[in-house]
Amino acid sequence: MNIEKIRADFPILSSFVYDKPLVYLDNGATTQKPRCVVEELENIYYTTNANVHRGVHYLSQRATDLAEEARVTVQHFINAEHSREIVFTKGTTESINLVAHSFCSQFCNKGDEIIISEMEHHANIVSWQLQESIRGITLKVIPINDKGELDLEEMKKLISPKTRLISIMHVSNVLGTINPIEDIIEIAHRNDIPVLVDAAQSVQHMEIDVQKLDCDFLVFSGHKIYGPNGVGVLYGKEKWLNQMPPYQGGGEMISQVSFKGTTFNELPFKFEAGTPDYPGVIALGTAINYIKKIGLDSIKVYEDELLQYCTDKLMQIEGIRIFGTSDKKSSVVSFLVGNIHHYDMGMLLDKMGIAVRTGHHCAQPLMDVLGIEGTVRASIAFYNTKEDIDRLVDGVKRVVAMFG
Ligand code: PLP
Repeated sequence: MNIEKIRADFPILSSFVYDKPLVYLDNGATTQKPRCVVEELENIYYTTNANVHRGVHYLSQRATDLAEEARVTVQHFINAEHSREIVFTKGTTESINLVAHSFCSQFCNKGDEIIISEMEHHANIVSWQLQESIRGITLKVIPINDKGELDLEEMKKLISPKTRLISIMHVSNVLGTINPIEDIIEIAHRNDIPVLVDAAQSVQHMEIDVQKLDCDFLVFSGHKIYGPNGVGVLYGKEKWLNQMPPYQGGGEMISQVSFKGTTFNELPFKFEAGTPDYPGVIALGTAINYIKKIGLDSIKVYEDELLQYCTDKLMQIEGIRIFGTSDKKSSVVSFLVGNIHHYDMGMLLDKMGIAVRTGHHCAQPLMDVLGIEGTVRASIAFYNTKEDIDRLVDGVKRVVAMFG
C-alpha cells in the first residue's frame, strides 16, 4: 500500500478545514471519491451522454454497452453467477425496500415472520416495519451480547415454521462487529429460509463471494465504496428474483404494455423502471476497478492495523467507553468519554479539522439496547493514516481537558 500515492488520488484529502489539514474519519457515512471516478462521470457527460437501452443511435448504444460492462464488473466483484442477478438501485436503502416489498408480496402472508437483529440500520428495520403494517407480517429481533455480537443461540430459538427471511447486516455501522454470516446462512438454509446480507459496511473492506457465502440477497451502496452517490446494488439469486414481482412500474421494466394488461421484461430490467443513473453506474464500475487494483486483501490488512492502533490509543484515555468490543471487527470505533455529550465532542473535533460522526447513526433501537442516545464514531478507510489517528486521539484528549 503506497498511501501517499493513494492519497494523491483523492484531492479532497489535501484540503483544509478551519485552516487545519482535514482528517476525514467519517467513511462509514460516505467515502471520498478518487479522481478517476469523478473524471469518469465528467467524461460520460461530455462524450457519451444518451439514454440507455432505448436508442438505436451510436451514443445510446455506447452508453448502454458501458453500463452493462459495469454490471459485469459488479458481478465479478462479488462473484455472482450471472450478471442478470445484479440490479442497479439508488443504494442500500432502496435495495432493501425493493426486496421487502417484492419478496413479501410474493411470499408472505399475515402472521409470517422476518428475522432481523438489534444492531440493524434503520434501512433494515423500517423497510420491514412497512410490510408489518401493509401485510401483517411480524418482525423478530436477534439480541446482542455485551461485546456487541449476535446471539446465534437466541437466533435459532426465533426461527419458526413461519419464518420467511432473515435479513442481517454483515458489519455493524456502529459497533464494527463482523457478523458470522456464514453460520447464519448455514443455519437459515438448514431451515429452508433465505438470507439477505446488508453489505453496506463490508463490501469496501473485505472480499465477498456471494456464491461461496450462498446468500440469497446482498445489498450495498456505491457512495460507501468510493463510487458516486445515488447508485447502489441489489444482488439476488436468479431463482428468487424470477419469482418476485416488479417493485416499480414504468419504462424499461416492461415487455409489452396494453390497456388490457402488461407483461414484464426479463431480469434484471424487470426491477429497473425508468431511466437509471447510468453515468453513476458506469462510474461505480470505475470505483470497483480502482479498489481491485489496490486489492481488498491489502486493504483489509492495512485497515485492521489502523483499527487496532486507533482502539489501543483511544483506550488509554481515562473514562472512555468503546461500544463494540468483539474480536471480529472492521473499520469502526464508536465511543463516549465520561459525561461529554457526543455532539459536543463532534463539534469540537470538527473545529480542529477532524470529521467524525456523532449521534445514533440511524440505529436508534441499538442505542436503546446500549442505554445511550448516541456515540462519537470514527470510521476508517484505506487512505487514512496513523497520523490521522494521532490527530483524532490528541483532539479527543484536548476536548477532555476542556471539560476538565
Ligand atoms: N445499512 C448500513 C449497515 C449502513 O451503514 C447504511 C448507511 O450508513 C445503510 C444501510 C443505508 O445506506 P444508504 O443510505 O446508502 O442507502
